Amino acid sequence: MSGSLSVVGLGPGGPGQQTAETAAVLAAADAVYGYTPYLARVPEVPGQARCASDNREEIERAGAALARAAAGARVVVVSGGDPGVFAMAAAVCEAVERGPAEWRALDVSILPGVTAMLAVAARVGAPLGHDFCALSLSDNLKPWPVVEQRLRAAAGAGFALALYNPASRARPWQLARALELLLEHLPASTPVVFGRAVGRAGERVSIVPLVKAPAEPADMSTLVLVGSPETRVVERPGRPALVYTPRTAQRDGA
Ligand code: SAH
Repeated sequence: MSGSLSVVGLGPGGPGQQTAETAAVLAAADAVYGYTPYLARVPEVPGQARCASDNREEIERAGAALARAAAGARVVVVSGGDPGVFAMAAAVCEAVERGPAEWRALDVSILPGVTAMLAVAARVGAPLGHDFCALSLSDNLKPWPVVEQRLRAAAGAGFALALYNPASRARPWQLARALELLLEHLPASTPVVFGRAVGRAGERVSIVPLVKAPAEPADMSTLVLVGSPETRVVERPGRPALVYTPRTAQRDGA
């Protein structure tokens, strides 16, 4: 039997937001690798090996999964959301590039999933309805000055922003610093959406103006969407407001 490696996106949380092709590939796998909380979302299959590892061990996990596939197993690596967005697909590609020649001969497939920014955006309307930009605020894999430079460039160019990895216990100040920097480039009234654990137990979504955003709580299950200067809030009687970015851009983004 020749082995294979699939990198699978589980979506943001709820089984209804996971694609059908990923469920079929998971059910047929000999071994499933992933960060412990993501593996917990995968239904157990008798005889299937489960290889849980810590969040920070992505390249080791990718190497172990590739080695097992090279030995003939059908291996799946799981990511939350989409595996290509700040997740395992890039780690697998990196391991293939650095690894033994036989890994390049393997059948590798990447199965997309609903990424967190789309799940959060859908909860409130269409804040990513026009040009937008996704950034990770984590400075584990890039220096903080690069984060600031990219935030300035993106806000200055008029993009709406999706901020992944906004905060954790080890990174308590980065989000407030990022929002204060954005206030130098954007109107104080710019809508900001905080989406926490969307699609999972404990979901919480709030909409605040940028000037109040640094005081909002955020953790590692939160995604932050910052509007562009065009983004609008439509109040509705008895229903949550709609946040959207119009399909046409009027200003020069400066
Ligand atoms: N591959 C994932 C992102 C991994 S980075 C994806 O495509 O969604 C991890 C970050 O994603 C978290 O810090 C948070 O910002 C965001 N995130 C993941 N799942 C989320 C959810 N259900 N609700 C809100 N944000 C989420």
